[in-house]
Amino acid sequence: METIEIGRSGLSASRIGLGTWAIGGWQWGGTDEARSIATIRGAIERGVTLIDTAPIYGFGTSEEIVGKALAESGLRDRVVIATKAGLDWSGDGVVCDSRPGRLRSELEDSLRRLRTDVIDLYQIHWPDLETPFEETAETLEAFRAEGKIRAIGVSNFSPDQMDAFRKAARLDTVQPPYNLFEREMEADVLPYAASTGLTLLTYGALCRGLLSGKVSKQRVFEGDDLRQSDPKFQPGRVEAYLDAVDRLDALARERFGKSVLSLAVRWVLDQGPTIALWGARRPDQLDPIADVDGWSLDEETKTEIDRILSETVPEPLAPDFMAPPETRGA
Ligand code: NAP
Repeated sequence: METIEIGRSGLSASRIGLGTWAIGGWQWGGTDEARSIATIRGAIERGVTLIDTAPIYGFGTSEEIVGKALAESGLRDRVVIATKAGLDWSGDGVVCDSRPGRLRSELEDSLRRLRTDVIDLYQIHWPDLETPFEETAETLEAFRAEGKIRAIGVSNFSPDQMDAFRKAARLDTVQPPYNLFEREMEADVLPYAASTGLTLLTYGALCRGLLSGKVSKQRVFEGDDLRQSDPKFQPGRVEAYLDAVDRLDALARERFGKSVLSLAVRWVLDQGPTIALWGARRPDQLDPIADVDGWSLDEETKTEIDRILSETVPEPLAPDFMAPPETRGA
């Protein structure tokens, strides 16, 4: 498995990371603990050494399952645990809160759920516009000085927000959305990260399953699955995305003997200093990992991919629907 350094932290990890939002169940139609644990262990067996989680994923459930999967099999030291902080779900909805007191209590909760005494990579999940970024950065640097975290990251931050944050902390990573259909960050965050030595943990490598090649127009999403309200999955729009997937799949098979899923993850890895976060909740969903590793896309294929995308999805939608409100409200 290809590896990459995590900023200037001295840590390194596999370039494919396991995303565990769906393992938390919330917004993904529920979870199954035994299957989730098998998925986490299966990822490590396949060479994955970074696991991304967050308190908000199932309101603690994802972290608890990750902690259990690692502790009960003695695998803790084989992986980089990346978790997050700065979202509060105790009121009516989810709001951003990166005030020092909130971060301190989240850190202690995450350490307990993850059954560890140090978090390898601690990330602010979304920018809290009501708390100065310098203050948040100072809080995380204090956690690092105490030996409770090893590396510092932010997620969904703009370059201006990262500039402010970096005045008071050594930032190691940034986590934006990024996949063949969601490329907004190429305009700003990608060049910013490349020029400032940040490693990118990019999320949604499969665009919530669309780029797996296994989603059809007939697929029904159960319970609270966010794809019921994801604009890309709605009738009238999803057809264009599925057309793109069919054409990309044909290209991948003809040129490389691989599937659209392998092409999609490989493409993310070939765009810069990235770790592609791949959400999975069954071990078999990670079988294609072997098909992603150890090759690269040539420029001509990248151009052909861009041509297919411009013909099939000329006006791609950004994943804004996932963002929490900008203020905490009254
Ligand atoms: P994703 O990786 O694009 O898609 C995950 C979904 O794709 C899975 O839940 C599964 O859905 C389907 N899938 C995976 N492998 C498959 C396979 N081999 N065949 C068919 N379907 C497959 O989306 P994501 O989970 O949203 O993103 C990845 C990770 O990034 C998250 O888990 C999380 O760690 C992180 N993330 C972070 C943020 C942030 O704000 N920082 C936001 C979103 C995500 P089904 O099993 O239902 O088919």
